[in-house]
Amino acid sequence: MTETLDIKLTKTSQSRLEQTDFDNLPFGRTFSDHMLVADYIDGEWKNFEIVPYGPIAISPAISALHYGQAFFEGIKAYKHADGTVTIFRPDKNAIRFNKSAERLCMPTLPQEIFVQSIAAVVDIDREWIPTKENHALYIRPFMFATDPYLGVTPSATYKFVVLVGPVGPYFSKALRVKIETHYTRAAEGGMGFAKAAGNYGSSMLPARKAAEEGFDQLIWTDAKEHAFIEEMGAANAMFLLDGKLITAEAKDTILDGVTRDTVIALAKEWGITVEERKVSVAEIIEGAKNGKLTDAFGAGTAATIAPVGSISYNGEEYFLSDPETRAFSKRVFNTLDAIKYGTTPDTHGWNYVV
Ligand SMILES: *Cc1c(COP(=O)(O)O)cnc(C)c1O
Repeated sequence: MTETLDIKLTKTSQSRLEQTDFDNLPFGRTFSDHMLVADYIDGEWKNFEIVPYGPIAISPAISALHYGQAFFEGIKAYKHADGTVTIFRPDKNAIRFNKSAERLCMPTLPQEIFVQSIAAVVDIDREWIPTKENHALYIRPFMFATDPYLGVTPSATYKFVVLVGPVGPYFSKALRVKIETHYTRAAEGGMGFAKAAGNYGSSMLPARKAAEEGFDQLIWTDAKEHAFIEEMGAANAMFLLDGKLITAEAKDTILDGVTRDTVIALAKEWGITVEERKVSVAEIIEGAKNGKLTDAFGAGTAATIAPVGSISYNGEEYFLSDPETRAFSKRVFNTLDAIKYGTTPDTHGWNYVV
């Protein structure tokens, strides 16, 4: 049975659309006129409301702030040339949203309610969807614990919020990345597979240190030996080695990316061998040296397909081919774009029409 959601709507009296500079949209700084909020109280989700974007009153004792019961999702909506608005594979995000919720002892949200909630905000603010190339409306659903209680125990109350805002390209050039051999993003038994807020807090110091050394991103390695490649910043790391697409298998230390899944599906259709397995640092460095590593990129909703320009390991920098000459990642990027912006038929049913 499909549950249909009742959402109360309070429209803003003062749209900020006119004064928004759509030629200057750094990631995550611009928010649309509205947001959706809902409460989890007495064991159920209620009070679904779309209200003007703005501050939310919370107690300073909420356990989200003290113990990190908080997680998020990241999705994009696109406007096609004919005005059609689509959201890319939100059902996948709904599933992952609930995996994150379960790992953090937080309540789940029925898949249809999740999708209807985000679609409602996109619909009300559809004028905010940029139409320029490589631009989209970024959707940020998130949930946090709201009990004003300092005991280390799961909260009984939560808020679900959906923010949306126009974004341009995340990265503008091929990335200089470093293989991290000291810090760890996720360990087995931990919560690397969840989009838990705490995972990103702990990544900031290593990322800043790498930035101080001149790197754009880190490649995370396994917590035990730092010998196997896991992810690239907040994107999945994917490689074309010896003609095969290889990437770390989606286990508990890996965020099971929607973009990763999409790239794998396309590669298989194109007859490319895909290997989801342990990816050793040694084979990647070897491939960079002998030229068998013909493509390397980060895959994520925010980053899209972000080509790697060079990989540094133990103080040595290995340069890869010019991204413009890379057949695979260019084909993936262009195909994804065509599906998202509706210039090619969506034969996979990946576009959810708003
Ligand atoms: C969000 C995220 C990704 C990418 O997932 P998508 O669903 O493709 O956006 C990959 N790795 C990490 C750590 C992430 O947070």
